[in-house]
Order: sequence, then C-alpha cells, then structure tokens
Amino acid sequence: MSCVVINARGEQRVRSGHPWIYRADVVDVEAEGGDLVSVIGPRQRTIGQALFSDRSQIPLRMLTRGDAPFDEAALVARLERAIQFRDTLHLDATAYRLVHAEADLLPSLVVDRYGPHLVVQALSQGMDRLLPVVTRCLETIVTPDGILARNDPKVRALEGLDQVVEVLAGTVPETVRVTEGPIEYEVDLRKGQKTGLFLDQRENREAAARYAHGRLLDCFTYHGGFALRLAAHCDTVEALDASADAIAVTTANARRNGVQLDAREANVFDELRRLERAGERFDMIVLDPPAFAKNKASVQKALAGYKEINLRAMRLLAPGGYLVTCSCSYNVTEDMFAAVLHDASVDSHVTVGVVEKRMQGRDHPVLVGAPETHYLKCFILRRVE
Ligand code: SAH
Repeated sequence: MSCVVINARGEQRVRSGHPWIYRADVVDVEAEGGDLVSVIGPRQRTIGQALFSDRSQIPLRMLTRGDAPFDEAALVARLERAIQFRDTLHLDATAYRLVHAEADLLPSLVVDRYGPHLVVQALSQGMDRLLPVVTRCLETIVTPDGILARNDPKVRALEGLDQVVEVLAGTVPETVRVTEGPIEYEVDLRKGQKTGLFLDQRENREAAARYAHGRLLDCFTYHGGFALRLAAHCDTVEALDASADAIAVTTANARRNGVQLDAREANVFDELRRLERAGERFDMIVLDPPAFAKNKASVQKALAGYKEINLRAMRLLAPGGYLVTCSCSYNVTEDMFAAVLHDASVDSHVTVGVVEKRMQGRDHPVLVGAPETHYLKCFILRRVE
C-alpha cells in the first residue's frame, strides 16, 4: 500500500481529532495523487489510512485511525450511518444533506437528496477516484431515480481536478420539485448554486418565522429562501439580489407558491444606504450574504463588509424589529462575527439583543475536532429600542 510519513506535529493534529494534515507536516511520500494511503508517524507507527492529494494544501484527509482499513465495507457503513442519522431528524423537507463530508467521516464527499434524486460532489483527488464505488453504494442504499455529479466547485481546481457536471446513474430531469416546509421549489440541479439550493439555511428560516412580522426585507435572497418562508407571517415582503436570474427565479417561485413579494435586482450595499436616506423602516431584515472571506488573507476586508451591511440594517430596524444576520465564511469564527455585530451596534447607535445564536441545519453537522466544519453562523437580533 502507498504510504505517507508525517511529523510529530501532524500526528498531534490527528490525535486532537482533526482529519486534515497540511503540507508542512508531510515528511515523505511514496504515493500517487488520489491514492488511499497508510499514514506513518515519526516513530514508524501506523496512524491510520487517508486520502492523499499531490496538489492540495491539504495532502492528507484521514479516514481511519490505527490499523483499521478503509475498505468498501467501511465506506458502506459510513454512508449508511450518515443516511440513517438524517432519517432520525424527521426533517420537514424533501431536499436535505445526506452526507456532510468531514462531519460524516467521509472527507470531501457531499451528497444531497432532492426528492428521488441525489447530487454528489467529490472535492479531493482521493474522493474523486472513489466516486464510482460511492455511486454504486448509494444506488444500493438509497435506490434513487438518478445521481448527478456537481463536480464544478472551484475548490476542485486546487486539487487539479476538472470541472464537470454529469449524470452518474439513472436519469436526472432538467428541474426537480422539492418542498421545504410549506414552500415548493422547482430546482435546476445542474446550474443552481451549491447543489441547487441553500439547504443549510432551512432551520434558520424556520427559526426566523417565529419572529417575522410587519415589513420584511430579505437581502441576498437568491431564489427567495427566507422571503418565501417568512411571507405568511409578514404584511409586505421585499427581496434583493444582485443577480437578475436569481430575481427571476424568486418571482417565479413566489407565483408558484401564491406568495406576494417585491423582488428587486439591486446591490445590497447600495440599496441599504438608499433605504436609510429615504428614512424607511423594517420589522425584520435578513442578511445572508455570500462568503465574504474565501480565505485567511481576505478576513479583514470581509469583516469590514459584514460590519457595513449590519450597521446599515440595524439603522433600518423599527424598534422591536429583528435582524437575522448570517456569515457562511468558515474563516470568520462565531466570536469574530459577534464582535463585528457589537461594533455595528455601537457605531449605528442601535441597541440590539441576541435572541438566538444559530448555525447550519442539523443535516450539516459540525465535527468537534475540525472547527472549519462550523462554517455558517446565524444570529437573530432584536432592536431593543
Ligand atoms: N438567502 C439565500 C442564499 C443567499 S446566497 C437563501 O436562503 O437561499 C447569496 C446571494 O447573494 C446570491 O444569490 C448572490 O447573487 C447574491 N449577492 C452577492 N453579492 C451581492 C450584492 N452585493 N448585492 C446583492 N446580492 C448579492
């Protein structure tokens, strides 16, 4: 079997529960990119088996510890455990995540269910090579109508992998219908962002519904996620997105669900400023921007961006109004995000209290040893006066 030797720091990292080993901690490589390798510690001890990548900054992703092999039986067991866990959640949706990569001990593998169809993503060389086996196992365990590979995220380029979208098994129609609570979506699995929808926000939409009332402003709406879910609780709904396509889909989704809303193509940064100048007030504002910090180098700039939109939104809140504010940058920790919200509150002279501190939905669990898996932070704030 191919093997990779790591140093004491790498070994310590694995012991602390982290599945990634960085390039700087790799001492010797006798493996090809994409191999399943045996990981050897500085004292010749076998630490476990891992997926090896010869291009990424993360050359090793641990699969097993000690002498346990990662064979097909182990793969099936992990897939089954991940899928059974979702069954126990009794999610009120027909679209949700079945396999959340590292957090399900299947690093760099994502599997989302959209009704009878599955969408998979293999985000490392090793998982890419395992994809035919993974596909066969998923066919047996889930018996889906079709499996689509959405292997077009940019991270694949860092692994030297192609950008491909292809049907791996069965058939996958142009669009599929799924439900999330009371809302029905028509989803384009081939072209939608992520695997089609932002499934990770489902429970935050449900939570926000508990407080939604009056006039709602949903910023960065994409296909209307928050706006559609909250509309039944509000008098009026406005939804903003910079993408004309997203606004067109939001409008179509609203019609399909009999929801009244005003969806506008706008840059949220500009529109919040305009609304403030016009003296407008809202009873709930949702801020769900794209990840502003895609890497460590852009964290400071990202924090300034988060502060700007949160400060403006706080000023637009009516007393007793709610701000549902999110960050999906894993480089911005919950503490950092909380500090930005504090700063925004001081600078806007708006007193807010935290009503709920939330994260991604339960079908996207967090691995305690890998803080990167806690990527989505969501605070529900209330303007106290
Ligand atoms: N809230 C959505 C997901 C948002 S994804 C949901 O619940 O499903 C982020 C969205 O922000 C994308 O649709 C993108 O087009 C939009 N976006 C990015 N930058 C923007 C900007 N400056 N102004 C408005 N929209 C922007």
